[in-house]
Amino acid sequence: MTTSSILNGITKSSLKFLEPLTPGDTYAVIVDEAVSLVEAVYGTIILEENGELKRVYSSHQTGYVTQHRSRGNVYRVFKQQKTQIVSAKSIAKAHPEIKPHGIKWTIFIPLSYRNKSIGVLTINSAKDRTFNKGELNALKLFGSLATLAIRKAQLYDETRKALEQRDLFLAMAAHELKTPITTIHGYAQLIAQKVKNKERVDINWIEDLSAESMRLILLVRELLEVNRIRTGQLDYNWNECDLKEIINRAILNFKFIHPQHEVEFIDRIDSLPHKVIGDFDKLLQMIINSLDNAAKYSSNDKKIQIVLELRNKHVVIKIVDQGKGIKKSDLEQVFDQFYRSNDSAEGMGLGLYLVKTIITAHRGDIKIDSKPGKGTTLRVQLPLISI
Ligand code: ATP
Ligand code: MG
Repeated sequence: MTTSSILNGITKSSLKFLEPLTPGDTYAVIVDEAVSLVEAVYGTIILEENGELKRVYSSHQTGYVTQHRSRGNVYRVFKQQKTQIVSAKSIAKAHPEIKPHGIKWTIFIPLSYRNKSIGVLTINSAKDRTFNKGELNALKLFGSLATLAIRKAQLYDETRKALEQRDLFLAMAAHELKTPITTIHGYAQLIAQKVKNKERVDINWIEDLSAESMRLILLVRELLEVNRIRTGQLDYNWNECDLKEIINRAILNFKFIHPQHEVEFIDRIDSLPHKVIGDFDKLLQMIINSLDNAAKYSSNDKKIQIVLELRNKHVVIKIVDQGKGIKKSDLEQVFDQFYRSNDSAEGMGLGLYLVKTIITAHRGDIKIDSKPGKGTTLRVQLPLISI
């Protein structure tokens, strides 16, 4: 094998690097090509991540056993960006695991491009041979082309994840918008009915209608913040919040969406201080989503209870239903995004994900207890304002 035959091989290999889309597939092609180029046994890719070198792929089990030392060859090649060939004798002490494979030498190829180092490719061979300077330089070129292929695959992966994030965000946004629209529709119908019958219209309805349309306006304004879409973060508007007010608003809303269901508010706080620091709309959304589940997963004749109490400087809200309950195997996953149990009739599986996100942002705690056939209790705990 000569420098020109290595160069020839590199040209063919580099075309193959560009084919795979995912980083995992790209690593495999790079290692396979490098191994066949220098007639080796196996190869490993080590990449830098948050200041540390981590193995991301090896074509042989042994490659996964090897622990790279912070002052070892891999680190040196990563820093100096020079191809190195090291005989097995000198590395067998630190890496006895390579012995059984009859490895004679290891080549360390820097994965770098234009002075930017992203990692190291190591190739282990069992053949007796040496490499001249030209050949080692040619292998460095191999490393540069491999680096570009890895970056391309990583960018593809990042783009795919960003798109997924965006889709999730849009789905969550739609979920938030659904609630005020339903309430507005409910009030509009009610008012139309009254006017048609020449009856008096309650001023409170019109005020609620106005408040809900305001909420809608605010939500849409938030939606338009491009930054939120990009990062998938919800913005919070922190204020002193009264949970009784929020619960009453949620119950009002609930009655429009689920008129057949009975909901009872059990207030065990009376006149004790119970305010929390929170985002009114997000907390409202949190209770609406929880009540929505309680109604969706129980029959109309089963009462839903919402209990408010104080516990160790916390306000506790419990949403209790006597519905179909959740299987033990599903319990751990109900807070995951898009998770719905197989027999769920409708929904996107985002309600509880949103609830948990909101509670976590409020430094609160959330638990779900459930028995199939008996019912479910969602317990939310929020810290009281400390005076
Ligand atoms: P979405 O809320 O997005 O409309 P969803 O209700 O299916 O859809 P989640 O609210 O996140 O999604 O709930 C996830 C799953 O947990 C549900 O599909 C359901 O199987 C189960 N679940 C949640 N709450 C209850 C409950 N109170 N009783 C029984 N099962 C529940
Ligand atoms: Mg739900």
